[in-house]
Amino acid sequence: SRLSDDDSGFRVYSPELDRDLERHVEMEAELYRALERDEFELYYQPQVNARTGVLAGVEALLRWRHPQRGLISPGEFIPLLEECGLMPRVGTWVLRTACLQASEWQRQGLPPLRVAVNLSAQQFRMSNLVECVQQALDDAGLAAEHLELELTESLILENAEQTIQAMHQLKKLGVSLSLDDFGTGYSSLSYLRRYPVDRIKIDQSFVRDMTEHRSSAALVRSILAMAHNLGLGTIAEGVENDTQLGYLRKLDCQEIQGFLFSRPLPVEEITQLLRDVRRWASPDPLEAASST
Ligand code: C2E
Ligand code: MG
Ligand code: MG
Ligand code: MG
Repeated sequence: SRLSDDDSGFRVYSPELDRDLERHVEMEAELYRALERDEFELYYQPQVNARTGVLAGVEALLRWRHPQRGLISPGEFIPLLEECGLMPRVGTWVLRTACLQASEWQRQGLPPLRVAVNLSAQQFRMSNLVECVQQALDDAGLAAEHLELELTESLILENAEQTIQAMHQLKKLGVSLSLDDFGTGYSSLSYLRRYPVDRIKIDQSFVRDMTEHRSSAALVRSILAMAHNLGLGTIAEGVENDTQLGYLRKLDCQEIQGFLFSRPLPVEEITQLLRDVRRWASPDPLEAASST
């Protein structure tokens, strides 16, 4: 315990542990309240074919609409959710909400599209993860082929054997798996063969640097070559300009995701974008997107 300031500004003798605990409890209460009051929201970012610009899917991205602080990005609160042990609950909400939304778009007559959901390490430690995914699909009436689950290398490495087993079980349900932030993890490219993944997402840090740094360009080139050799699908995230797009096209990267085409959008706006037939029919929507 240490000397610390209390609210009145007096130095009081109070154990720091109490303060930490207090803050922790407060934060936890806020996050529980956020769940109860429906303060979490999903934004959706398009994933498009790099050659044709045809929209192939969307990634669901979590946001917290805090009553006082406004929209908070996941980088700020996901670590707190994990600390509180709330991530499995919120993650389950994300999964169910994204499946319901995908099914709702189909009900509205939009062409079926793939929805990608990020899974956290804590979700992978849930003993009932596979049932939870199946339940989300069933309750939404969504075919498994329309759901993609994104996981990271570090998540897999945390508990390799058990995680790879769970991945196989998820594959059996018919969902697809992608490896997020690829290239930032610790494992070598050859580890890819051990993972039952359908595609890899090249991390945005490489996409950002690729047009300026030879080393990043070389890395992107070898990641794509390796993926092609292994028969894996490919998507690059964080694509912001035409130079990056041109480069990725030349290297046969299948899909792109990034501000060039669209930022993550709230549900009304993404629904409007999905309805906008020009986005689907234009001969080069990517060019159209980048010129606006
Ligand atoms: P991520 O899964 O790698 O998602 C991509 C992030 O890159 C998103 O940030 C997205 O807004 C951002 N992004 C997309 N295109 C561009 C671009 O062109 N330029 C730049 N600078 N950024 C771009 P966001 O939404 O802040 O999410 C950050 C991370 O939080 C995600 O990274 C993911 O790891 C995590 N996350 C988000 N939602 C969830 C969720 O529902 N569950 C879990 N477990 N994690 C989530
Ligand atoms: Mg992701
Ligand atoms: Mg990513
Ligand atoms: Mg990332």
